[in-house]
This record gives sequence, structure tokens and C-alpha cells, in this order.
Amino acid sequence: MFYIKDRLYGAIEVTTEIGPDNVFCKCPYCGKEVQVNLSLLMADGQGDLLSRSVVCDNCKRVSKEEH
Ligand SMILES: [Zn+2]
Repeated sequence: MFYIKDRLYGAIEVTTEIGPDNVFCKCPYCGKEVQVNLSLLMADGQGDLLSRSVVCDNCKRVSKEEH
């Protein structure tokens, strides 16, 4: 089990278990919040979480229409 550990207001320690429905990122094109299943994201072998982002469905659709 992996979890996030952080401090609220510099004082209250909070831990949250990482699950399939509580990880999010911002779409790099429009900034929309995108829910990310880390299990699926890591399955492609390109698991560098610090440099990756996930494109939202709308921007994926636009990008396909351009080609
Ligand atoms: Zn987007």
C-alpha cells in the first residue's frame, strides 16, 4: 500500500492511501482535472510520475480530429 503523507497548515499530519479513484492530475492543455488510475498508468512501463501528465478526454478528441 502506498500513501500520501502531508501536513495541513504546517501542523496536522494527514495520510491518504493511494487508490484507483483518488489520484488526479491537471490536463497539460486545458488544465482540467483528470482522474488517474495509477495501476493502469504504470502498466505501460513509462512510470515516471514526476514528469508525466494525462490528457483529458476532450483534448484527446481534439488532437485526434486534427490528424
Ligand atoms: Zn484538456
